[in-house]
Amino acid sequence: MSTQIAMEPRASYDHAICAACGGECCRRMAGACSPADIARLFPAADLRSSVLLALRSGRYAVDWWEAEPLIPFVRAAVKGHEGRLHHPAWAGECTFFNGGCELSDDDRPHQCRILRPRENGECEMPPGYESKLAYAEMWGATGIDLMEIGLDLSGASSDESGTEGGDEDGHAE
Ligand code: SF4
Ligand code: SF4
Repeated sequence: MSTQIAMEPRASYDHAICAACGGECCRRMAGACSPADIARLFPAADLRSSVLLALRSGRYAVDWWEAEPLIPFVRAAVKGHEGRLHHPAWAGECTFFNGGCELSDDDRPHQCRILRPRENGECEMPPGYESKLAYAEMWGATGIDLMEIGLDLSGASSDESGTEGGDEDGHAE
């Protein structure tokens, strides 16, 4: 497992290709966030507080890489599951997808910013980011216990039942 928060690669958008595609990736799964994404979008005294703000917004959730133990990370929420703190989804449309992305180019999750669109539909992640494990490792390096963090929030739902709580099929990689 890496011990550093990965640097932020520059965005690799090609809006023309994505407009023609219609957002297949966004309809398939919500993008994973880096710790820096959450710190920037939800300014607070520390990263843990930023994560709490993100979760309280209902538009972000904790998912995890299936390992022993589970390795959690933060991603955008899946549509219809907004407000769930821990949501081990395998697929589902992103909460921010509404014919296009609601978020500005800069505010989109790290995974969305670095995905390289291809006209043939074989869009690709840069080396080192091919799976959600890269995001799980980034979050693991922060030392924040994302599996317990939601327990601070009253009145919000949480599903910590592991793989049995997953939705639909095929965890986005
Ligand atoms: S990145 Fe690829 S799959 Fe996603 S909207 Fe653009 S062309 Fe479509
Ligand atoms: S945040 Fe925007 S770009 Fe990323 S998956 Fe959601 S709708 Fe798509």
